[in-house]
Amino acid sequence: MGDAGDARDVWVFCEAAPEGRGLMPVSRELLGLAPRLAAARGVSTAAVLIGAEVDECARECVAYGADVVYAAAAPALARYDDQRWSAVLADLVRQYRPEILLGGATAIGRALLPRVAVMLHTGLTADCTELSIDPETGLLLQTRPAFGGNILATITCARHRPQMATVRPAVLPRPQPDPGRRGRIVVTTVSPDGLPAATEWLRWVPRAGGGVDLREAEVIVTAGYGVGGPAGVALAAALAEALGGVLGASRAVVDAGWLPYAHQVGQTGVTVQPKLYVACGVSGAIQHAVGMQNSARIVAINRDPEAAIFKVADYAVVGDLFEVIPPLLRALGRP
Ligand SMILES: Cc1cc2nc3c(=O)[nH]c(=O)nc-3n(C[C@H](O)[C@H](O)[C@H](O)COP(=O)(O)OP(=O)(O)OC[C@H]3O[C@@H](n4cnc5c(N)ncnc54)[C@H](O)[C@@H]3O)c2cc1C
Repeated sequence: MGDAGDARDVWVFCEAAPEGRGLMPVSRELLGLAPRLAAARGVSTAAVLIGAEVDECARECVAYGADVVYAAAAPALARYDDQRWSAVLADLVRQYRPEILLGGATAIGRALLPRVAVMLHTGLTADCTELSIDPETGLLLQTRPAFGGNILATITCARHRPQMATVRPAVLPRPQPDPGRRGRIVVTTVSPDGLPAATEWLRWVPRAGGGVDLREAEVIVTAGYGVGGPAGVALAAALAEALGGVLGASRAVVDAGWLPYAHQVGQTGVTVQPKLYVACGVSGAIQHAVGMQNSARIVAINRDPEAAIFKVADYAVVGDLFEVIPPLLRALGRP
């Protein structure tokens, strides 16, 4: 879309969760933030939905903070397709000219939004951890970790619109919906004739062995390299099970081959925000901390009283995890 011109409004590209479970949590998180950015610019918020059936999610978008929902509906858009979805989103942006376009750094968001940024000749900051409006310039301040997480870089897109950013799930607070909120839903019926069709959907093949869903977990017990090997991982797993939670891992544990990548928390893993996060033998390197420091309650077990993890912990247990965890398990009724 090129230069700043008369662009206005803050848009959020929203995604539906699988199996009719409403909006993806990160879409809700972004809709919770959008009204604050819009208020700072004196503009409105809008959500964009693409798919075959979008009515239910459109109502949810309004409840979470959208003033307008642009819903592009067509059977040919039922499943994510790089070319089709980017054509639809880029067209909507050209037509309505938002000044800001945000999306979750999900598998779809990471594929779709950079493609749309290129189509519109604008910039995109990936994996932001913080977004705000510069009161002097009115520009979107897009903050993200850089140089291996050692610094936080704040990036602006001064001359091109929309200013685009993706934000990782669970970095922003989880907002509460307001079912009484009112908004406008603009349904755009997309004709299949106008859609590129270079690919064809053949079938869905579920990932072998399933996966672990850390992002939705309310309790996470993470095994750090201090667990020492598979026996220590099993101890952390037993604690996770006893607390009704799931097992996380630091990168050192994944690199050692003790747990698969799907368990990794941190900058190059997933960002989590559970009610309870128990770090067992985790040093608390910045690349790990950025992925879990927004958890509601953090308990750290580490035998080094100087470990960095204690800086982000609410409860610090200084001790050997092989001595600390077994009595905890017994207290929880586990043998
Ligand atoms: C670009 C980049 C991206 C990265 N991304 C990630 C990421 O996404 N996630 C991530 O986790 N890391 C990431 N890292 C790696 C990160 O810098 C650390 O190396 C890693 O987090 C360390 O893992 P750890 O804390 O488990 O291991 P260590 O640093 O080895 O710490 C082990 C801890 O266990 C304690 N300990 C040892 N034995 C016991 C015991 N018996 N009882 C109690 N405590 C004990 C020790 O005191 C120590 O504090 C990244 C690094 C880079 C450069």
